[in-house]
Amino acid sequence: MSTDDLAAPAALAPHLGTVLDALAAGAATRNGPLPAGGPAAVAEALGRVLADTGGADPLRTLTTALAAHSVDPLHPDCAAHLHCPPLAVAVAADLAASAVNASLDSWDQAPAAIEIENDVLRSLAGLVGYGPRAAGVLTTGGTESNLMGLLLARDSAPDHHRATRTAVFASTAAHFSVARNASLLGLPPAAVHLVPTDDRHRMDPAALHAALRAHRARTPAGEGAGPSVVVATAGTTDLGAVDPLRALAETAHAHGASLHVDAAYGGGALFSERLRPLLDGLPLADTIALDLHKLGWQPVPAGVFLARDAARFDPLEARVAYLNAQDDEDEGYLSPLGRSLRTTRRADAFKLAVTLRALGRDGLGRLVDRCHDLARHAAARIAATPGLELTAEPVLTTVVFRCTDPRLDASATDEANARARRALLAAGRAVVGRTELGPGPGAIRLKLTLLNPHTTEERLDALVDAVAAAGREAAAEVVPATAGTA
Ligand SMILES: *Cc1c(COP(=O)(O)O)cnc(C)c1O
Repeated sequence: MSTDDLAAPAALAPHLGTVLDALAAGAATRNGPLPAGGPAAVAEALGRVLADTGGADPLRTLTTALAAHSVDPLHPDCAAHLHCPPLAVAVAADLAASAVNASLDSWDQAPAAIEIENDVLRSLAGLVGYGPRAAGVLTTGGTESNLMGLLLARDSAPDHHRATRTAVFASTAAHFSVARNASLLGLPPAAVHLVPTDDRHRMDPAALHAALRAHRARTPAGEGAGPSVVVATAGTTDLGAVDPLRALAETAHAHGASLHVDAAYGGGALFSERLRPLLDGLPLADTIALDLHKLGWQPVPAGVFLARDAARFDPLEARVAYLNAQDDEDEGYLSPLGRSLRTTRRADAFKLAVTLRALGRDGLGRLVDRCHDLARHAAARIAATPGLELTAEPVLTTVVFRCTDPRLDASATDEANARARRALLAAGRAVVGRTELGPGPGAIRLKLTLLNPHTTEERLDALVDAVAAAGREAAAEVVPATAGTA
């Protein structure tokens, strides 16, 4: 074996053995959901490994160090983010995609991968309830899909003032990428209208109606209003709240606005008979973002952007002499170049094609349902644990809560929760999420995002107990400081 061998299967085989051994060895030395000791310990350990530039087997050394000092989404106590343990079959398929190294910017770099992507997109379009006119593309994730949703809503509009007069309507609980994408598109902050939510953090259709009407009323007479796009969220990152999609679609369309649904998280409910009704109205959306690297158990990236009508992609059409000449396309050598913001693009749909066949919709649905059950179990345990306060019943697979102590005021409670989480990280004991609901003080919450279908109720109970214990210790640290100022 030579290290400058290219990735022919025979050359790859010994490297795979090295990687699998090193992953196991690294995980064994970590022996928990994350490395203990916090950022300083990780920086020191990695610094030592990286300083050794003359080592004999860098693949083995670096893979071992990577595994030893990583956060392990396979570990039951790793429960902070929408950061899933990937399916083994999907990781193996992704290796095949890397080895073949197709690039989906032209037919002559990806003949099979283009067919496979189209097949996956047809399946997913069918799953969301779109008809035969739908089209889509694989993306790096919800952030890119949301950018495409805004961009194509803007550029599909006939109004020539569209570039400066586009208005975006999203709820106060929408993902931060909505506002950032609007800014990337050159829209001023005032172009993003934050629509109030109801008591369960869902966009209120009556408030959307009022916001759209007020926007229209502000447009000076004689000047056409620019395009308006409503971004609904199906599964907010923290509470999993699903906006009332049907009512929002009707409201948006009645005002001539288009609807993009950010289903990066909640799109996973499509696989579940039990949760699917939450997404009622989804096929009314003009465009949709899905992330199969969340409730789809894919290695990153597995973002999907879908449009109800393929014509939505027209503004992205690109004719590039060396990639997709018109006469080649006329002869059937079609390329997906005009559906993506990217040029070189790896075959991310391949792992999805394999997964959808290996597990099927029902298999994925069982994983979603299991994680939903685990979230409900954790919520009940939290509600029953003294010193913990459940914020809301889980909708999907997240559980939001906090540690409380009668001796602490709102700011001290925030402080204790933040400290408790960091203490669990520093000890290498657990990776628990943290967020804020509304303006502080008193806004900080802890969060369990349950994406590991193989954890057990007993493991979850132990995790909840560990958080409660960390909360008690943190409260004891914070109390004297508060008492001193009282
Ligand atoms: C995760 C998430 C995103 C961002 O997706 P990335 O894949 O991280 O780019 C957008 N919206 C929601 C609701 C999400 O949960």
